[in-house]
Amino acid sequence: MKVSFYGHARQYHNLKTEIDANILKVLESEQYVMGPMLKQFEDEFAKYAKTKYAIGVANGTDAIWLVLMALGIGPGDECITTTNTFFATAEAIWVAGATAVFVDCDPQTRCIDPALIEQAITPKTKCIIPVHLYGQCADMKAIRRIADKHKLFVIEDNAQAIDAAGDGFRIGELSDAATTSFIIQKNLGTFGDSGAVVTNNAEIDRKVRKLRNHGSDKRSCHSFGFNSRLDDIHAGILSAKLKHITAWSDLRRKWAARYTEGLQNAKSFTLPYAKPNYRHVFHLYVIETKNAAQRDPFLKFLNDNGVDAKCHYPIAIHQQEGYPWGKEARIVGPIPQSEKNAASCISLPMFPELTAEEVDFVIAKVMEWDKAHA
Ligand SMILES: *Cc1c(COP(=O)(O)O)cnc(C)c1O
Repeated sequence: MKVSFYGHARQYHNLKTEIDANILKVLESEQYVMGPMLKQFEDEFAKYAKTKYAIGVANGTDAIWLVLMALGIGPGDECITTTNTFFATAEAIWVAGATAVFVDCDPQTRCIDPALIEQAITPKTKCIIPVHLYGQCADMKAIRRIADKHKLFVIEDNAQAIDAAGDGFRIGELSDAATTSFIIQKNLGTFGDSGAVVTNNAEIDRKVRKLRNHGSDKRSCHSFGFNSRLDDIHAGILSAKLKHITAWSDLRRKWAARYTEGLQNAKSFTLPYAKPNYRHVFHLYVIETKNAAQRDPFLKFLNDNGVDAKCHYPIAIHQQEGYPWGKEARIVGPIPQSEKNAASCISLPMFPELTAEEVDFVIAKVMEWDKAHA
């Protein structure tokens, strides 16, 4: 048996009628950019997120820096985040011209550790960018308290946790804006790239809308801006898929529970931590080897035995070659947790269309390795 890491084609086949109908509708409409399908999806997405506004953009990275620019954050300003995230979180801060300031992550959730944020705040700090890593929300209540105390903005990088929730908070509720990515491998993904910003702030909505479309909100009139639009074919695909996101998250949670049950007696690695009363949507199911030296041989064993496991992310941002590439960056305190996470993480196959047989096959292979190496 072979178990793949993603199930994109399976998902397409399950939804072919709905997706094809929306694509054809756009093709026949002759309106492919900033057309009615984009408007429809933005309305549906804002309603789904329970925010006042949703703005479609070209990708999840642009979504972050467009919000930074809309907030007037740029050269001379500092943004606090973590180094154990996809590279794009830091990249967006640099594109905006601001300085990335890194603190360590929580030893259990692997999201930013709120207890480490205050020591990183300086008079230049403008913003905190928590990442809802692997499908679980960062501790937004604690982050919001710190932001209020120091008058900082909060932007949630929600590329990995659409449909997740915290203990009594929704994504987008306790921040100035939340950004997301719809690249195919994310929990809500189109067949290509795109992203969105959700916010309750009319000013952010107005500015991001303008910035993404050549600084224009009126035909032929421009101010400073870019081209970062979500085109209508992708909006149509996303509109068809959005109706299924909650059911897909429930399936991810079901497969995660099955992994956790099947792997609970393992000795050589730890299982992902799901916070009580949080809705973890398992964008990734990440285990960590107790001995970092075992990670690469373990991963190779899985790959050689039909399990398409991967690493997210084996090289933390501050460990990337040449860091910080002449860009401004600062690390506050030692960051052993981010480094441990990078050295020991393995992501097991995770997508809604998995079968029980496939999950059990992965469990059997993982336990086979554990028995031989614990
Ligand atoms: C995927 C991802 C992004 C970037 O999204 P793109 O659409 O690829 O630009 C940003 N942050 C995190 C945490 C991600 O996982």
